[in-house]
Amino acid sequence: MAKYIPDIGSRRWVIIAPGRSTRPDQAEKKPTHPACPFCEGNEASTPPEVYRIGMGEKDKPGWQVRVVPNKYPITDMHEVIIHSTDDGKDIEDLPLDQVTRILIAYRDRYRAHDNDGQVLIFCNHGFAAGASLKHPHSQLVVVPRQINLDAVSREPVANVIEDNTFYITYCPDFSQWPFEVWIAPNPPAGGEDGKFSSVPDSQLADLSLVLQSALRRIRKAQDDGYIRSVHEAGAFVYNYYIYHGENWFIRITPRFVHRAGFELGTGLNVNVTDPTEAARILREIQI
Ligand SMILES: [Zn+2]
Repeated sequence: MAKYIPDIGSRRWVIIAPGRSTRPDQAEKKPTHPACPFCEGNEASTPPEVYRIGMGEKDKPGWQVRVVPNKYPITDMHEVIIHSTDDGKDIEDLPLDQVTRILIAYRDRYRAHDNDGQVLIFCNHGFAAGASLKHPHSQLVVVPRQINLDAVSREPVANVIEDNTFYITYCPDFSQWPFEVWIAPNPPAGGEDGKFSSVPDSQLADLSLVLQSALRRIRKAQDDGYIRSVHEAGAFVYNYYIYHGENWFIRITPRFVHRAGFELGTGLNVNVTDPTEAARILREIQI
């Protein structure tokens, strides 16, 4: 069981989840792992699946996206969404159809847990972003409603990078990380603007397009030297999450920098790249 500890003064909470420390850590033995539990054919090494897109029987090969309970949960409901059978390719390199399937899985699992609490879907890409297995995947956690989530609400649109029928991509003025990118529904054109669970199938292809495009642009900005990463050469490290509440958005935070003592001690973030400049660079990049 996860234990929730409040801090009365700041209304922040910490989750004590000691079982997490025993999870396997490929970060120690990258780049390959002989028995990746998320690869096709190794279905028996995960807890029984709760959802799949694709063919085949439960816990057998044939799937395209597979969802299983997390063996080392942070909260009492915690799932892993395996992006594809490909052990190496993630959103930025998968076929667009596959990215759309991942988003369908996000939306469907959000719906499945909508009455259980606050649903947070997030992706840690790269060991330095907190991933403990290399095989690309996202996670869904359900946090009880009485726990106050200290998450920023949707920022006003500014510094636009691109848009399509249903979505708009931008670098908010309140960007805490260099080259931070947000994706939000494009309301004038009818983008679904409630919680993420309400997004219809017909809008998810558009969303996959801007999500993949944003990640490719950020990677290219790194490759072209517009920003230097603290991580090993060529490593592309980022997190993104889908805001859990009304007025949903996706927030992508590339991890070009470390957070350090000043940030920890003050709660203030230092962003070394002006979001206006970041948006200009990302907009002009050819992908
Ligand atoms: Zn794998």
